[in-house]
Amino acid sequence: MVEQVLASRHQVKSFESAGGARIFQMPLEAFPSFWVHSYLVIVDDYRVLIDTGSNFPQSNEGLEKHLESISAEIGESLGLADLTHIFVTHGHIDHFGGLAYVKPLTDAKVGIHELDRRNLTNYEERLVVVAQRLTEFLLESGASPERVEELKEMYMFSKALFNSVEVDFTYEAEGMQIGPFDFLHVPGHCAGMVCIKLHDILFSADHVLAGISPHQAPERLTLNTGLGHYLESLQACRAWASDVGLILGGHRRPIENLGKRIDEIVAEHQQRLEKVIEMLSEPQTIAQVAQELFGETEGYNDLLAIEEAGAHVEYLYQRGYLGISNLDEYRQTDLPVPILYQCLDAEIDFDKLINLRE
Ligand SMILES: [Zn+2]
Ligand SMILES: [Zn+2]
Repeated sequence: MVEQVLASRHQVKSFESAGGARIFQMPLEAFPSFWVHSYLVIVDDYRVLIDTGSNFPQSNEGLEKHLESISAEIGESLGLADLTHIFVTHGHIDHFGGLAYVKPLTDAKVGIHELDRRNLTNYEERLVVVAQRLTEFLLESGASPERVEELKEMYMFSKALFNSVEVDFTYEAEGMQIGPFDFLHVPGHCAGMVCIKLHDILFSADHVLAGISPHQAPERLTLNTGLGHYLESLQACRAWASDVGLILGGHRRPIENLGKRIDEIVAEHQQRLEKVIEMLSEPQTIAQVAQELFGETEGYNDLLAIEEAGAHVEYLYQRGYLGISNLDEYRQTDLPVPILYQCLDAEIDFDKLINLRE
């Protein structure tokens, strides 16, 4: 019984837009027990794949299997060779990694936003650059050198999953519109993140998700990420709230009310910021903040927790609410030392700090 429920959770679901587009949501196992949605969209002469999975063997097999079952259902052959376009929503491996598998099998034109283009075209270089920044950030966060090595290795594990590929077009250069698809640049979770609107349906990628606030990392790791950009992008996305009736994310279940979901996510970040301010009445490192916020974490979640805490500390520090209490130690060396942050002003008006709710 349980197996049946699990099996059906990972089956293709179909939707139809008000303008008659047919949309198929294809769950792919990007990493063991970690699922991502890829979408097949049939509208006018367009046969579009939105995101590709991770290039993990189960992910590629799932994609082929789903396309076969969709072809059988609609009575039209729709394999990878029949695609006209591939839209990548953002430069995270669970969304674009599958391009390494898909690209040799199709002539479909591949698009990505300008700010994530190099994630695909200069993949190996970017991993090295980000790993260096990550090491510095983690050491300053107060993680032990051994833990930093472990976390860095974890970050680098996806190295083998992908080789750089060429892309055919970028969204800004196309005027943020391709046929009936409208694109909105929503930097934050990722620098080149886009949401895609088709008639009354919004593909929200990892910008807006059901049941979880999308992961944030500090901007010091990659420009145009970070909590400040993310909250601004949530606000920008509200412009479409009255146009869309169904929001299909990169993970998790569909959402019906965009404005309401944005309010919930903003509130979650506000609460987290309030907690961080409270904790930092005493000087603490980011690793300590992470542990208080998220408890004991393991494996990749450990890295995610420190990044998430780092994004919130950075947001407050950027705005002058936090100071560094061990500045003398920091001054004495060029090497990264754990930074102790402390709140400078406990009387923060959060409605002014995050003035984004409607
Ligand atoms: Zn993502
Ligand atoms: Zn994702």
